[in-house]
Amino acid sequence: MLQLPHQPLQVAAVPPQRAPAREDQAGPWHSEAVCRRDEAGLFFAPSKEPTAARLSREESAKRVCARCPVMVECREHALMQPEPYGVWGGLTAAERRVALARRRRRDVELKTSGATDRIAG
Ligand code: SF4
Repeated sequence: MLQLPHQPLQVAAVPPQRAPAREDQAGPWHSEAVCRRDEAGLFFAPSKEPTAARLSREESAKRVCARCPVMVECREHALMQPEPYGVWGGLTAAERRVALARRRRRDVELKTSGATDRIAG
């Protein structure tokens, strides 16, 4: 399992397997992650975070992601795992769920249309 480029807040509602990155286990893109030292705690929610604070924190994290050279790799990693918590690749957990649902729907449509084409052809 790949390790996080950014470190979860110590008080965050994040499962214990989401340990901080270790150099020897980091993926090839982790070394370029802008968030390797998430000192501001932008990427993971502290417990009982009010909605307005969460939205503001997530927007700040997304601004960091927007200038990160490995955003595409990070986003794909988070979608493929899938990572259930935090901001990854400029997407919140909710946005990743939507993106994954779209992918699944698209895959089903492609399979269905392929099957229909074969039957019709
Ligand atoms: S895209 Fe965002 S979450 Fe991913 S490595 Fe870069 S700064 Fe971190």
